[in-house]
Amino acid sequence: MVQLAGLIGDSIAHSPSPAMQNAAFAALGIAARYELWPATAAELPARVRALREPGMLGANVTIPHKLAVVSLLDDLGPSAREVGAVNTIVARGGPLVGHNTDAAGLAAALREAGREHSASGVVLGAGGAARAALVALRRLGARRVTLLARDPAPLRGAGLGTAWRATLETGATTFALLPAGPRAPGDVADALATADVIVNATPVGSAALPGMPLGADWLGVLPTDALVVDLIASPTAWLAAARALGLATLDGRLMLLWQGALAFSLWTAQPAPLAAMRAALSTASRDPAT
Ligand code: NAP
Repeated sequence: MVQLAGLIGDSIAHSPSPAMQNAAFAALGIAARYELWPATAAELPARVRALREPGMLGANVTIPHKLAVVSLLDDLGPSAREVGAVNTIVARGGPLVGHNTDAAGLAAALREAGREHSASGVVLGAGGAARAALVALRRLGARRVTLLARDPAPLRGAGLGTAWRATLETGATTFALLPAGPRAPGDVADALATADVIVNATPVGSAALPGMPLGADWLGVLPTDALVVDLIASPTAWLAAARALGLATLDGRLMLLWQGALAFSLWTAQPAPLAAMRAALSTASRDPAT
C-alpha cells in the first residue's frame, strides 16, 4: 500500500513542499506520496480525523491552522509544547502527535547562512511562525527578542508555549510586545538599532498579500551587519529593499528545506535525503511560493 502524507492549510496551491517531500520518498525508495490537502477552518477537524485512516504517515500544517490544530490532536511532543504551535503531525496508525519543526528548521537555516549566534533579535508577527522564530533566536543565544505585531494579543495568556512562559517567568530573555504602528516609534527604533537579526513572520510581501511588513525607512535603523530574514519562501520586495541598503538577507527557502527534512524524519524514522530535497526545492520554488 502507498502511504500518504500531506500539507494541510488554506491557499497552498503553490507550495513547493510536495516536490521536495516526494523527491525524498523517491530517493529512499519509500512507497509513499505527499499531497496537498487544502482545508478551511470549518474543514480542519475532518481533515485531521482522516489522518486516523490506515496508511497515513502524517501531515504538515500551515497558515492559518498551526494554533487551531492543537486541540484536535491526542498529544504534543516537546517541540510543539515549547513553541506553542504545531506544523507537523505524526499518525502512523497510532495517536495523532503534534510536533514543531519550524523553530529547529529556522535555527538550522540561520546556522547554514553563517549566523551561529544572535544576541538581540526582532520578530514581526504574532502567529505560529513568530513563536517558532522566538524559540530559534533563543537557541542561538538571544537575550533580547522584541516582537512587533499589529495585534500581540494572541501571544498573551494561555495560548503561549512553554518557551514563552519560561521566558516571561525567568526573565532570561528581555521580551517586549510592541504595536507595529507609529504608536511606539522610540521603542521600535531602539529595538531595531541593536538587532543582529530581524525576521518577518507575517505573510505580508507574499504573492497573496503584496506590501512591506515594516517600512523600508525602518530597515535603515538596523546595524549594518544585521541579517534581514523573510520567512516567505520566495524572493520579496522587502528583502530587495534591505539588499539595496547593503544589508545581508535570507528568504524562507532554507528554513522550508530544514523544517521539511525534520518532518520527513519524524514520519519515516529515517535521516532525510537532504541533497535530493534541496535540488527539488530549488526547481519547485522558482515558481511563486507561499
Ligand atoms: P499566522 O499564524 O496566521 O500568523 C500570521 C501573523 O501575521 C499574525 O500575527 C498576523 O496578525 C500577521 N499579519 C497577517 N496579515 C498582516 C498584515 N496585513 N499586517 C500586519 N500583520 C499581519 O501565520 P504563520 O503560520 O505564523 O505564517 C506566517 C508567515 O510565515 C507566512 O508567510 C508563512 O508562509 C511563513 N512561514 C514560512 C515557513 C518556512 O519554512 N519558510 C514556515 C512557517 C511559516 P493578525 O493575528 O492580526 O492577523
